[in-house]
Amino acid sequence: MEGKLIIFSAPSGAGKTTIVKRLLAKHPGKISFSISASTRQARAGEVNGKDYYFISKEEFLHRVAKKEFIEFEEVYSGTFYGTLRAEVDRIWALGRHVIFDIDVEGGLHLKRKFGDRALAVFVQPPSLDVLAQRLRGRGTDSEEKLQERIVKAEKELGYAHRFDVILQNDDLEKACTEAERLLLAFLQET
Ligand code: ADP
Ligand code: 5GP
Repeated sequence: MEGKLIIFSAPSGAGKTTIVKRLLAKHPGKISFSISASTRQARAGEVNGKDYYFISKEEFLHRVAKKEFIEFEEVYSGTFYGTLRAEVDRIWALGRHVIFDIDVEGGLHLKRKFGDRALAVFVQPPSLDVLAQRLRGRGTDSEEKLQERIVKAEKELGYAHRFDVILQNDDLEKACTEAERLLLAFLQET
């Protein structure tokens, strides 16, 4: 089996983590989550080695120098996120496809790198206002961090057309059903 990549990208707050978690719960034997490395602090409830590999900035930059990342970004000022080559190889070796929850630049980067082996999905929130409400409702970021995410989101919404598919996330149930349809159709392609 040739391992494939299913990439969910969107501005923070659009709902990609929620959708990806649903897909993983429904298809554990088919897909596995690409655990990214990040230099941010773990949020309450997040587990090292499950949600992210939480590492120091020093270690992150050391691993960049050793060319261990397929892609990485300074997603927010001073905070790095990246996909380790070893992580993707680990999942493919299990005979599963890799699913990503990754920022817009990173998603486009992976799509450029892997071409038809990757499906790049942009998760579209109904509006910037709704996105801001969702971020506030999630309650995980300070007001300053929230503003940074909203400013970045405005720019990222303009990149939607560069993806293979735009997935509307207005009604969560509909979005999850459509995400599953897209996933299964892509995995059936040879
Ligand atoms: P992202 O991973 O894109 O940053 P999350 O999946 O964390 O986004 O979602 C942000 C917040 O919005 C979460 O609190 C989530 O429960 C909520 N959310 C996601 N999709 C919807 C939706 N369709 N309608 C209302 N709330 C949603
Ligand atoms: P959060 O701090 O909310 O978990 O994530 C912030 C942003 O970083 C999200 O858009 C998330 O998808 C993105 N992200 C997570 N992992 C990676 C990664 O490995 N590479 C890149 N480029 N972005 C990532």
